[in-house]
Amino acid sequence: MNCIAHRLPSAARASWVLAADGSFAAIGDGEPPEADRTVDLGGAHVYPSFVDAHVHLPATGLYAAGMDFRGQRSRAAIIEAFKDRAKDSAALLFGGNFEDLDQPILGADLDGAVGERPALLARADMHSAVVSGALLAELDLEGIEGVDRDESGASTGFLREQAAAAAWTWFDRNLPKQQAADAIRGAVKLAYSKGITSVHEMHVVEWRGWAAWDTLAEAIDDMALVVVPYIATTEVERIRAMGFHRIGGDYFLDGSFGSHTAWLSEPYQSSPPSGSSPTGISYREDEGLYDFFLEAQRADLQVGVHAIGDAAIEQAIATWERVAGTVGRDEVRRKGHRIEHFECSSDDHLERARALGLRASVQPAFDLYWGGPHGLYAERMGWERAREMNRFGSMIENALVVGAGSDSTVTPLDPFVQMQAMRAHHLEGERLGRTLAIKMHTMGARALAFGPGLDGTLEAGAVADLVALDRDLAETEVEDLTATEVLGTWAAGTQVWPPGAAESE
Ligand SMILES: [Zn+2]
Repeated sequence: MNCIAHRLPSAARASWVLAADGSFAAIGDGEPPEADRTVDLGGAHVYPSFVDAHVHLPATGLYAAGMDFRGQRSRAAIIEAFKDRAKDSAALLFGGNFEDLDQPILGADLDGAVGERPALLARADMHSAVVSGALLAELDLEGIEGVDRDESGASTGFLREQAAAAAWTWFDRNLPKQQAADAIRGAVKLAYSKGITSVHEMHVVEWRGWAAWDTLAEAIDDMALVVVPYIATTEVERIRAMGFHRIGGDYFLDGSFGSHTAWLSEPYQSSPPSGSSPTGISYREDEGLYDFFLEAQRADLQVGVHAIGDAAIEQAIATWERVAGTVGRDEVRRKGHRIEHFECSSDDHLERARALGLRASVQPAFDLYWGGPHGLYAERMGWERAREMNRFGSMIENALVVGAGSDSTVTPLDPFVQMQAMRAHHLEGERLGRTLAIKMHTMGARALAFGPGLDGTLEAGAVADLVALDRDLAETEVEDLTATEVLGTWAAGTQVWPPGAAESE
C-alpha cells in the first residue's frame, strides 16, 4: 500500500489528510499518522481537484499549440498569422476562436496567406469555419446546408453546421497522428496546470468520426487524467460493446447563438444570413429522438444532448416525458440524463427537468462573454429574452443537479474563469456564492456523470483528488480569481503537477 500524508495549512478545518491506494483513508487534527511519505502543504490552500464536465481535448490541444485568436478583432492579424505559420511549419494549418472581426474573413483571404495548402479557421463556437480553397476542393458539399455563397453562387469558404462538419471530418482524417497525439497530451498538461484531474470528453462523431476517438483513447491511455467519454452517436449497441455507460453529450439538437443556429421558438431579432431559417436549426425529428432515448434508456445508458435554444430544450424535455410515459418516471430519474448548455431554459423547463431528474451541464463563461444587456445574446434576440438565459441560481433553487464545464475551446479550460463567471453573473439574482461556485467544479461536475457521492470532497472514502492553491478561494475577490496559481495537483493520490514534481503524466 502506498501511503501519503498531506500536511495541511493551519487555517484548514483539519491538519492532515491521509491518502492510500488512490483514496482518502483518513482526515484529522494534530500530528499526521505514519506514512510512506509526508508532503507539507503548509502555506497552500487545499481543495478537491476540479472536474471539467464538458471538454473537447483534441481541439484544446491544437489551439494551445498555436493559433488561438480569442479576443483578436483584426482580420489582417489572423491572415498574417496563417502566412507565418505556413512559412514555418509543415503541419496541417489550423487556427480558431475568432468571433466578430473588423472585416469578415473568407476562404480567399486564407488562400492569400497559405497558397495551395489546406487550412481551417474555426469560429469560437466551433459551429462555423472558414476554409482555404485547397481544403474546400476536397469537400463534397453537394446538397449540404450551411454553405455561404457570393452573388455568382460560388462558395465563399465560410461554412456553417453540417457544412462545417464536413470540413472538420476532412481535417481529422488528414491530421497526422503524431500532431493529434501531441496536441491531446498538451491539453492534458494544461488541465493539470489548472487543477483539473478529470474531464467529460465530448466526442462528436458527426464532426470527427470514429478514428479520431481511437487516436484520443490511445494518446491518454497511460495518463492519470480521468476521461469520462460521452460519444455523440445513436449507435447504442456499439457504445455498449465499447464498455461505456454513457452516450451522447454533444449530440446536437441545435447549433449555437454565434452561428445563428440555436433553435428558438420565436425568430432571431438580428437577421440570420440569407438562406438561413429565422429560428435557427433543428437537427432531429421528434420520432427519431424518442427512439434513440428509449433504446439508450433500455440499454441502461445515461444520455446527454446539446440543447441551447428554448425550442431545442423543449424538444429534449418533452421527449424524456414521452420516454417516462413508456418506461416509468422513476426509471428515467434513476439514470440522471443530461442536458448540455441548457441555456434558454424557462421556469417551466426547470420544473419539468427536476421532475425527470435531468442534470444541467452548464458553461458559466458563456454568460461572462456573451450575456448581459449589450452582449451577443441580447444582440441576437433582445435583452428581454436573453435575460432568461444561463440562470445558474434558479437551477440550484430548483434543486437540479448542476455542474460546470468550459466547453473548451469555446471558453478557456480554466475553472477560475468559470468561478468568476458564476459569482459575477449579469443578473444579481442568478449569481452563486463563493462556496457554491467552487462546488460546481468539484462535487457538481462529478455528480453529472456519477450521481451525488463522496468524490469531490476531502472526506475519508473519497478518491484522493487534491489541488493546492496559492490563495483561499472563499476569501478571493471575484476579479482576482483568474490570477490563482496552482501549486500542485494530485489525481487519485498521484501528483501530476507541476512537471518537476509529477509522478505520472
Ligand atoms: Zn455542445
